Amino acid sequence: MLAAIPLVSFHSNLNLWNMDKEIYRCTIGDFECTIFKDFMGKYLAKDFFSNADKKELDEALLKHNVSPDNIPSPYIAMLLQDGNRKILIDTGIGSSEEPIVFRGMEVFWKGQLIHLLEKEKVDPNEITDVVITHFHPDHIGGVFSSENQLVFPNATFHMHQGEWDYWHSSKSDNQPPLFKVFIENNITPLKNKNINLIKHDYHEISKDIISVNAEGHTEGQIAVIIGNKNDQLLYISDAFLHPIHIEKLNWQTNYDLDHKKAKNTRLKLLDLAYNEDMRINAFHFDFPGIGVAQKENSNWRWVYEE
Ligand SMILES: [Zn+2]
Repeated sequence: MLAAIPLVSFHSNLNLWNMDKEIYRCTIGDFECTIFKDFMGKYLAKDFFSNADKKELDEALLKHNVSPDNIPSPYIAMLLQDGNRKILIDTGIGSSEEPIVFRGMEVFWKGQLIHLLEKEKVDPNEITDVVITHFHPDHIGGVFSSENQLVFPNATFHMHQGEWDYWHSSKSDNQPPLFKVFIENNITPLKNKNINLIKHDYHEISKDIISVNAEGHTEGQIAVIIGNKNDQLLYISDAFLHPIHIEKLNWQTNYDLDHKKAKNTRLKLLDLAYNEDMRINAFHFDFPGIGVAQKENSNWRWVYEE
């Protein structure tokens, strides 16, 4: 997700960045897990819940204590460490030295992931795997530096074949030009590098890391099952952008490519997490975005982990 928002607002949001913690640590199965807050975005209710009934929307926003013109939305990256394996899921928005001119405005990106890795004493050279859940700017911006250097030079990059094909075909011609710039800078140059294009619905990326097809938000988005039978977490990326989407499964967002597929994916992921007793991590929920989806009759409810 990204775009269709006043990008200049990113500047004014930067001062929000230090207001709460930017690094969160936990364990998932055998992994030491670190979640980094790369950036804070801000979105509009009319884009997040584009087909919602006005009265119901007002009630939902009030209940979740957000205003319609300011839905705060973190961008994150997750690091999983187990011995020598260091696996990064998503790479943040990246950081630009030169402004990109977009819709007549000069835009800078100042994602913090690389600084936060340094703070945690993690050398980008040690990253063994990078999982890219989908190719929107807030997930791929950190793959190459602003000097066009691969930031994680020793990693294998895992992503879905369907996502790769979509963004490298005429199907994506009507996508925002800024998205295309991010793809050209951060994804296309990977074709000569160490990449693993995933073809199946469920695919073992590494021990205790399984990708799951989560199409709809984009053509080839993946979710990621992390951990072992005793302790599993489902990284849902942008299948849900806000907890309200868990409660209101028919509410669509302007950021989804295919609403029907997006809804089917939401149901699939909720059932998976519920039936297998998995915690959930949601990229754009309140940082660090960990919680559980509870089921009451046929209604779902999101509860943040304390
Ligand atoms: Zn996103």
